[in-house]
Amino acid sequence: MTRRRISSLWWVVVGACSAGSVACGGTPPPSAAQVGPPPEPVAVFSWDDDPRHRVAAWDTSERLSVLSVCRPLRARGVWSGRSGDVEAWMPGLYPTDPVPDGHTVWTFDDGPMGWRTEGLLDVLADADVRASFFVVGLNIDPSDYGLVQRVVAEGHTLANHGFNHDGYMVAERSGDVTREYVVWQYAVTQAVVDAALLARDRDDFAALRAAVLGPMSTRPRAVDAAADVPALWQRHQALLDERNAGVSPYPMRWARPPGGAPWFGRWGLASYVAYAEACAALGLINAYWHHQTDDSNPNLTPEERADVGRMRDQLVRASRTGGVLLAHDRIAVNGVRQALWSLGGDERVVFAQLDDLLVAKYGCDATDLGDVVRGHSGWWQPALAVD
Ligand SMILES: [Zn+2]
Repeated sequence: MTRRRISSLWWVVVGACSAGSVACGGTPPPSAAQVGPPPEPVAVFSWDDDPRHRVAAWDTSERLSVLSVCRPLRARGVWSGRSGDVEAWMPGLYPTDPVPDGHTVWTFDDGPMGWRTEGLLDVLADADVRASFFVVGLNIDPSDYGLVQRVVAEGHTLANHGFNHDGYMVAERSGDVTREYVVWQYAVTQAVVDAALLARDRDDFAALRAAVLGPMSTRPRAVDAAADVPALWQRHQALLDERNAGVSPYPMRWARPPGGAPWFGRWGLASYVAYAEACAALGLINAYWHHQTDDSNPNLTPEERADVGRMRDQLVRASRTGGVLLAHDRIAVNGVRQALWSLGGDERVVFAQLDDLLVAKYGCDATDLGDVVRGHSGWWQPALAVD
C-alpha cells in the first residue's frame, strides 16, 4: 500500500441514520464480536515532518462508518496542539460543545466523602434533581460504600474518576505502560464499585475490596499497575462469579481523568493517544465541562472556597448559561441548597443528564457509543508506517 500523506483533510460521513443508528430506529451498533479486526488504514495524517506525529486513519469502511453510526463523524488531519483536534477523534463531551437550550448537567467529583456526599444527596433528593458523581475508587472505603449504592438507587449517574486521583496518570512513559496504567486506574475503580454494589455489609465490602485489589498497593507504580491488568480482570471476574452477578451490576460509561489531564495539562500527543486508547478499550466516554465552581480553586483561601454565597451564585449563573458544570462533593452544601431554591421556579433551566447532551451531540447515549468505541479499540495508532 502506498502511504498517502495528507496535510489537511476533512471527512464528513453523511447520513447518521443510514448506518443502523439506534436513535434513528435502525439496528443496534455492531458489537465488538461482529465488527472483527480493524481494516487496513488507507491514509496517514501528518501535521509536521516528525515521523512520530502520524495517525493512521480509515476512510470508507468499518471504522469511520461504524463510528458514524451515532453521528456523522469529522476527522481532522492537522494537529495544532489544541485539544479540539483530539476531540474530533475521541467521542465525549467537551467545553466547546454547543448545549441544547437551558440544559444544565451537574457533576460532582472526588467522592464519596462521607457526610459531605450524604448531605449533597439529601439536598438533591429534596429538589428532585439528578446529578452525576465521578467517584474515586480509593475513596470508596468500608464507611462510604453505602453511598455508592445510594447514588445508584436515587437515579444519579455513577461515573469513573480513576482509582487514586493520580494527576500524572497520562504522563508519557515507555511502551504501552501509560495506556495500561490508565486501564488499571479505571478498571480497578469499576471493580471496587461492583464490590460496593454487591456487598452485604461493611465487613463484606472490606473483604471484596481487598480481593479485587489483590497484591496491589493503593498507589502502585505505573509499570506495576500496567503489568497487573490481566490479573485484575481475573480478580474482578472472580468477584462477579462468586456473587453470581455475571456482569457488572452497574457498568460505568463515563470517565473524567483527574485534573482533566491530558486536556488541561501540558502533555504531548502520546498522552492523548494512550488515554484515548485506554478509554476505547473500556468503552468509556469522556465528560469534560463548560463551567466549574471555585469549590476546589487552589488560588482561593479555604474560607473563599467554602463561601455559601459564592457557590450559590456560581451554580445559578452556570446553570442559566447551560452545559456541564463541574463541582466536587466537598462543595458547601448550603450553597447548593440555595442555588436549587433560586433555580426551582426558573422554567428556562432544565436539569439534564450527561446522556442528554451526548444524544444531542451524537444521536446516541453513552452505552451505545461506548459499545461502538470499545469495538474499535486500537483506532488510534500513531506512528504507524503504512507502506
Ligand atoms: Zn478530581
